[in-house]
Amino acid sequence: MTLAALMAPPPETAAEDLFAWADAGQRELIAQIKRLVELLAADPGLAPALGQTPGQGRRALAGRGLELDAAQLSPLWRDGFNPWPKAHTPLLALWDRWLRSHAAHRARLRAIAGLPPALAAWRDRQMARCALELGPFANRLDYPVLAFELSKGCSIGCWFCALEAPRLSAVFRRDDRGAKLWRETLAACAEVLGPAALANAPCYWASEPADNPDYPDLLADLAALAGRPGPTTTAAATGDIGWTRALLAIYDGRPGLRFSVLSLEMLAAIHAAFSPLELLLVDCLAQNEASAIPKSRSGRARRGGRWLAARQAAEARLAGRATDPRRETTACLAGFKLNMAEQTIELLSPCAASDRWPRGYRLHAEGSFATAEDVGRFIKQTAERLTPQSPPPGRAIGLGHGVVLRHNAHALEFTSAAAKMRLPAEPALARVAGLAAQGKWDAAALLDQAAAAGVGPLEAMAALEALFARGLLDDDPPAGER
Ligand code: SF4
Repeated sequence: MTLAALMAPPPETAAEDLFAWADAGQRELIAQIKRLVELLAADPGLAPALGQTPGQGRRALAGRGLELDAAQLSPLWRDGFNPWPKAHTPLLALWDRWLRSHAAHRARLRAIAGLPPALAAWRDRQMARCALELGPFANRLDYPVLAFELSKGCSIGCWFCALEAPRLSAVFRRDDRGAKLWRETLAACAEVLGPAALANAPCYWASEPADNPDYPDLLADLAALAGRPGPTTTAAATGDIGWTRALLAIYDGRPGLRFSVLSLEMLAAIHAAFSPLELLLVDCLAQNEASAIPKSRSGRARRGGRWLAARQAAEARLAGRATDPRRETTACLAGFKLNMAEQTIELLSPCAASDRWPRGYRLHAEGSFATAEDVGRFIKQTAERLTPQSPPPGRAIGLGHGVVLRHNAHALEFTSAAAKMRLPAEPALARVAGLAAQGKWDAAALLDQAAAAGVGPLEAMAALEALFARGLLDDDPPAGER
């Protein structure tokens, strides 16, 4: 395949098409409702203030620069902040349709075509494991298979940083040498993982895009190769409005840009600098301490009681509406993270934060690179070595951490603290699952046990692989094995 063919944008690049149903008038209304929801999420005083002024809502909203029919939207704030009210008015129905377009966009982001089959199966298995481990919250993860850090560390230092970004210590510059390495690395990744992997790759992780003065140009390089820019989240949208406008120009009406909002003052500055329509497809995520959006209990947020106080405040704001009980990661990557400043590469997958994995992701492999060829080689070799289709030999087979098996005549039920998965109680599967739940045998010994119980070797192996593929077996990387 030629490089030009490799770089051809994947067929489903037009994410903005999912939002094309809205005409100009609807987009104006949606943009204003979005701004209202951002205000309600960030400002603990707004919902009570609106609730106390029945009949005065339109005037109160006009005071915030919003020309909206408050009566139609009052379910958003009437009983505490409710981000998901029933769509029983035309404006709420419009908003609901917009949210469903976002959900469809996320589902599309997850479907990364062209991955090497072994890596695709590994990623599917990680997603299945996360569905059980994290419960409904796992639906909000996009699972990119590639991510780039364009600096080492972060200058912002948020107290809740789920990835525990260290202090900023190095920046990858797009000088002559850097531009060459960047373009060659992007091409190497696209060659091994496919162009869709590149198009979905965030250019940040435990890093802040604004720390790199070349970020817009580096992102534009990626967009030129992949057909669209990967996602960007910045906590510095108000640091230099010109820089932020340069990012908006690269996204050019496409989704993928997100602002982390660290204070009410920052939200006000964002709203003052950009019109609702300019930010129609830009997520403004309230991360201030009084936000109604619960924070992940991972990374720095695991230390001290500040997370708990913020969590309780968020729950109070949501007036008892259920919040995700297992929001214990923000790490969405199931794949390779490259730090371009220190030239390192890691294979990561999301998990619930724990003492072993406090940042909410597992580390499966790590290495360094000097050239783009090294990157391609590392990805290929790691994908071959660490993405087996059946449980690796020589390790005791057990169910995933905290997973409990119950079965009756009709179903096998695998339960974690966050979710359940049911499989049909087919005899070979039930027998092999029961043996795996005991955690005593490696694959060979488990198959012997299954044979002794009357399960044929092919049936037993198929059952074992089915459990493995569904993320039900423990595949935590053993300490020291990477
Ligand atoms: S949350 Fe983001 S902006 Fe804040 S310290 Fe971590 S990496 Fe930096």
